[in-house]
Amino acid sequence: MPPLVPLQLVSRVVQQTLGAPLRHSTRGFLLHPLRSSSSSAAKPVVTHTGETATTTPIPEITDVYPHLRTHDSIYQFSLEQPEEFWGRLARSRLEWQKEFKTVTDHDRHHYHFRWFPDGQLNASVNCVDRHARRHPDRVALLWEKDEPGQEERITYRELQDLVCKMGNVLKDSGVRRGDRVALYLPVSPLAVAAMLACARIGAVHSVVFAGFSAEALASRIQDAGVETVITADQAVRGGKLIQLKQVVDAAVEKCPSIKRVLVGTRTGAQVKMGPKDIALSQALSSASTECPPAVQNAEDLLFLLYTSGSTGSPKGVGHSTAGYLLYAATTHKHVFDYREGDVFGCVADIGWITGHSYVVYGPLANGATTLLFESTPSYPNPGRYWEMVERLRLTHFYCAPTALRLLLRYEDDFVLRHDRSSLRVLGCVGEPLNHEAWHWFNDMVGEKRCVLTDTWWQTETGGIMISPRPSAPDAPVYPGMPMRPMFGVNPVLCDPNGKVVEGLGVDGALCVNSVWPGISRTVYGDHKRYVDTYFSPYPGYYFSGDGGLRDKDGYYHITGRMDDVINVTGHRLGTAEVEDAMMEHPEVAETAVVGFPHDIKGEGVFAFIVLKKDLHSTQEEIISDLKKLVRTQIAGYAVPEVTLVCPGLPKTRSGKIMRRILRKVAANKPEELGDISTLADPSVVKAIVDIFNAHRTH
Ligand code: AMP
Repeated sequence: MPPLVPLQLVSRVVQQTLGAPLRHSTRGFLLHPLRSSSSSAAKPVVTHTGETATTTPIPEITDVYPHLRTHDSIYQFSLEQPEEFWGRLARSRLEWQKEFKTVTDHDRHHYHFRWFPDGQLNASVNCVDRHARRHPDRVALLWEKDEPGQEERITYRELQDLVCKMGNVLKDSGVRRGDRVALYLPVSPLAVAAMLACARIGAVHSVVFAGFSAEALASRIQDAGVETVITADQAVRGGKLIQLKQVVDAAVEKCPSIKRVLVGTRTGAQVKMGPKDIALSQALSSASTECPPAVQNAEDLLFLLYTSGSTGSPKGVGHSTAGYLLYAATTHKHVFDYREGDVFGCVADIGWITGHSYVVYGPLANGATTLLFESTPSYPNPGRYWEMVERLRLTHFYCAPTALRLLLRYEDDFVLRHDRSSLRVLGCVGEPLNHEAWHWFNDMVGEKRCVLTDTWWQTETGGIMISPRPSAPDAPVYPGMPMRPMFGVNPVLCDPNGKVVEGLGVDGALCVNSVWPGISRTVYGDHKRYVDTYFSPYPGYYFSGDGGLRDKDGYYHITGRMDDVINVTGHRLGTAEVEDAMMEHPEVAETAVVGFPHDIKGEGVFAFIVLKKDLHSTQEEIISDLKKLVRTQIAGYAVPEVTLVCPGLPKTRSGKIMRRILRKVAANKPEELGDISTLADPSVVKAIVDIFNAHRTH
């Protein structure tokens, strides 16, 4: 296995080429920043080498610094001279209303990161107008509706018209620059247009996954002080109708701040319209296709996206306009080797960050044709993805491991009967891709001729952070790990004392020792929570919440969450959220929720509950009520797979629940319970194990 060039060696190579010593700082970017570009000894030289040092050409850098002849030297340059690296990309890859003079102006003490702070640009112009000018008839959105074979194509010119109309409708109905707008919509051109229309007029969108309950929607509306919701009559998924408008009505009842609800048409069903409701199709039909783009500062918020943390309510992760857009576009191009003419297929829902970055912003900023997938992996049969690949001639297919684990159980013929020769790059995200699923995807679906990128990143990182590509051309790709850091990303592993663990074959808390443009800027309305969550655990570094391992070859593996967040079908869920929902039940005294390994979902939800005395209901009734509660408070995917009624929970003498023990019970590993002597009542563990065993054999 040819090793990734060790950093020391990379430094040596770059040192030789740049003529100045480079420092691979391991002391924390916030406390001891890497050398700034202004002190660079490297002199830009503009020549055209035509060489491909890295998998996807990056001429903005290699034409100017021709001595950067290897991928590793370009990567090292991106760490040592982030201003030069990202400044050049930002100038060439984004269209500015006012070009920036300053690349970064970080306030490292207060954790305010600023990229291109004096620049101005509009994200919708970057994602639509500039491409509509150059190639108006290129398909921007390829909408794969729930029923196969009913796809619709929206060109860049049509998308521009729709975005402008929607922008005018928003303005006319009273939405102003800086307002937060909640979107509760099916994956559809309407949803993309709504996101970009917000960007066009300078409003901040907050897309809420249309599988979340009314409660969950209401809490996100309240947290962001939303006055405007955009929704549709219904959604269609896997042949089933979902009553979106009804959910929004229930949420709006709890949210006095809401002034208006724009209701789009997906199925044309009759829905109840109240005084705050505006029929969107009607409003759009009379709206103008001229909507001058708002002049936005680079650091203005582009959107909020709520995500679960280990404590408290979900956080409104805030992303900036320029930094986010540049990072989404650059990663889309270099991780997936996007080339003009490709048909990019990412099947994520727009309600998650993957949908934001690799269905909408990244591909559209690069002028791509991007898929909008409304359906499910197994509708109408488990060959759906591959039939779609054949019919739409997708060049890329980016999905979630949970879907692959589901599909590989069916006969091979569901894959083999479809022509997949259009595919060039495969990708997955959301949770570890196990070896079996990796091989099935790579060998069977991709016929061993596609590049498979297992991408690690998070809502907070805005874009992909670790992935097999970009890399040296033809560098090996191995199963089960995301492997290599993206340009500008310096991963480090920290021990429990906050010290960086050096060397190979080591593990630790996965942190980042660099500021990349896509890093989220704040938690909406609570910057302290942002600092406490991401920067306090390992001072000087961004802490991801995940554990990582750097293997003997220098490649990164992800070992899983280190906090009380679990990952169910690739969706993050705070165990505390589920516990809070269950505690609403009047007959429940205590709960503890943990994750357990699940063949398809990755992790399943496992609830331990203690009931009050003098019950009015049976245990079965209570468990059924609890499922309903979780479904209505959060979403279907959060409903516990298993709920065990226990006499008590394992607690330390100070009253802290020992989740470590519960995780072992849920994983059916009673032999690994470890020392339980410090518990206030160790006998409770045996009782729980007995109940678990009885449940298993039941
Ligand atoms: P989200 O912010 O909802 O996208 O969830 C991010 C979390 O998903 C990360 O912190 C990881 O725990 C997990 N994750 C994402 N991608 C991967 C991957 N390629 N391998 C392992 N875990 C992943």
